[in-house]
Amino acid sequence: MKILVLNCGSSSLKYQLIDMENEEVLAKGLCERIGQDGAVLTHKPEGKEKYVKETPMPDHQVAVQLVLDALMDTEHGVIADAKEIGAVGHRVLHAGQKYSKSIVVDEKVKAVIRECFPLGPLHNPANLIGIEACEKALPGTPNVAVFDTAFHQTMPPKAYMYAVPYNWYEDYDIRRYGFHGTSHAFVSARAIEFAGLDPENSKVIVCHLGNGSSISAVLNGKCIDTSMGLTPLEGLPMGTRSGDIDPAIVQFVANKEGKSVDEMLNILNKKSGMLAVSGKSSDFRDLNDGMDNGDERCKLALEIFCYKVAKYIGSYIAALHGVDAIAFTAGVGENDSVVRKMVIEYFDYMGIKLDEEENNKRGDDRYISTSDSSVKILVIPTNEELRIARETQELV
Ligand code: AMP
Repeated sequence: MKILVLNCGSSSLKYQLIDMENEEVLAKGLCERIGQDGAVLTHKPEGKEKYVKETPMPDHQVAVQLVLDALMDTEHGVIADAKEIGAVGHRVLHAGQKYSKSIVVDEKVKAVIRECFPLGPLHNPANLIGIEACEKALPGTPNVAVFDTAFHQTMPPKAYMYAVPYNWYEDYDIRRYGFHGTSHAFVSARAIEFAGLDPENSKVIVCHLGNGSSISAVLNGKCIDTSMGLTPLEGLPMGTRSGDIDPAIVQFVANKEGKSVDEMLNILNKKSGMLAVSGKSSDFRDLNDGMDNGDERCKLALEIFCYKVAKYIGSYIAALHGVDAIAFTAGVGENDSVVRKMVIEYFDYMGIKLDEEENNKRGDDRYISTSDSSVKILVIPTNEELRIARETQELV
């Protein structure tokens, strides 16, 4: 079966067509600037030339049709007929407390995605538009919703409840949900498999470190805590997000600078984090270059980040009553050997030891701990699209 994986943002649409016989990607691509001037489709078929087409995309319906046309194109295509697509797996941000697993989309599921618009105001509307566009373009082909929040629904109340007035939870669903769930699910499962751990008796910490970053504590394959909260702003400092701060700062600076709460939240989401501390960039490659060249603020940004990652790992070792494996993933986790070293150094007192040579190598799933390390440290490249495709196939 061939499965189309879609990830719709407010003005973008990423896709992969995966052949589940061998889990090979047949084609992948991206529509950008949907609903804006200069919309462009970039289509990369496996084994063929990349194809870029600038063409108007007034809405996601048009974008979905362009993707299907590209997939079936005689020159750039990889399938002959849309009927070859057995199902579409959609990345959907938020299911609130409704779903802890992926689900085949029907009217009820669409209603839940709609009910969760307030919890995911940027993503859920776009995700639903993508689903409805596929319903029209591929009538009869099942759509599956794979939720970013689902993997974290196994958190116990002590991990997901905030210590705020209880009616906020009852009336407004204010609680911690967590994100990057598809990645945490994929990487924790692979870490258990790779390290030969007993799935029913395993303690794994997954560090998804990218432009957005989150950490999760996974006990026997189930998430018991994660660093993002009601929104992806909580937890680690990130490329442009502040992560945890004293909420009183919002009122303090809003009063000083005459800003609204919305303006303050925009700053905390888009103008904070590594970008703000370094004063240079949100990209960890630039921060490393800056630190190497003696830039004190780039160094400070990396130190703040690694210290916070280490503090979360430490707290999750407590939450799990120990740890068997720590897995690094995503853009920074997979590529930044300096960050991994700066984080793991905090745990030398526990006998957790990094193999510096392995840490500096590149590659796929691998150990970067020494053979006598008390805990296995792994690098596992994440593959959210494959996880979405697998879950979609299972359901259809
Ligand atoms: P992601 O959000 O997972 O796509 O990660 C994107 C981030 O990964 C970029 O903003 C970079 O900061 C970081 N990154 C990618 N490649 C490298 C690298 N070779 N070294 C350090 N950081 C990297």
